[in-house]
Amino acid sequence: MRIKLLPSSFDVDGRVLPEQRLTSYVLDDVLAVDAGSLALGLNAFQREHVRDIVITHSHMDHIATLPIFIDELFGILKAPIRIHATEGVIELLESHIFNNEAYPRFSQLSNSHGAVMVYCPLPLGKPVEIAHFQITAVAVNHPVPTVGLVVSDGCSTVVFGSDSAETDEIWALANRSVNLKAVLVEASYPNEWEALAQRSGHLTPASLKAELQKLQAQEVPILAVGLKPSCREAIIQELGELGDGRISVMDPGREYIF
Ligand SMILES: [Zn+2]
Repeated sequence: MRIKLLPSSFDVDGRVLPEQRLTSYVLDDVLAVDAGSLALGLNAFQREHVRDIVITHSHMDHIATLPIFIDELFGILKAPIRIHATEGVIELLESHIFNNEAYPRFSQLSNSHGAVMVYCPLPLGKPVEIAHFQITAVAVNHPVPTVGLVVSDGCSTVVFGSDSAETDEIWALANRSVNLKAVLVEASYPNEWEALAQRSGHLTPASLKAELQKLQAQEVPILAVGLKPSCREAIIQELGELGDGRISVMDPGREYIF
């Protein structure tokens, strides 16, 4: 499974910077998980082939360029973009984003080939086939309806934790998974901001360490994501101080193969 965290920060010459301001991943060039920087970070092949998008939750850093991505493709789509999300997330997208005020209600619009966007409700706790992946969504601990994902391509399984404070079900599911090859988990705030992290449903390096106690697989790479750019250096230092050799910070723009 090839996974890229799409870049969302660039220098004045357009070079990718490591700061992550938005969240979206592309898997095997065909599936997107979240759409924060989807319209910015795909190459031409991916833009042509990504037609399935899983949205974990409605926070802007995870959906910011979803309308832009669909808008750009509107005239040339020969089949609709499929938005895979729980009913709760779909309701929020329809009421706050695709509401004919912030953006057109694409789910009711067509081009000359037919519909341009359809919703595919994502069940909780039950595997579904999306593209060539088997994906199981489970609720995690965040202030809005949010899912973490366990994604398998039949050979490798990867956990996408999304945004979440302490939670249990996704770790239990990870422990039941075969061929677990990587865990992508957030580390949003430094330890001194633990109270804010708790209130906003996020982890610090210290609470990430506690979460990792729930993971039985001991050799699996742990990729930290979602580090708030303003505290990135402090978070990286505290992650290093955990002394856990499995943990590294995921590089935007780099393709990982699991
Ligand atoms: Zn969030």
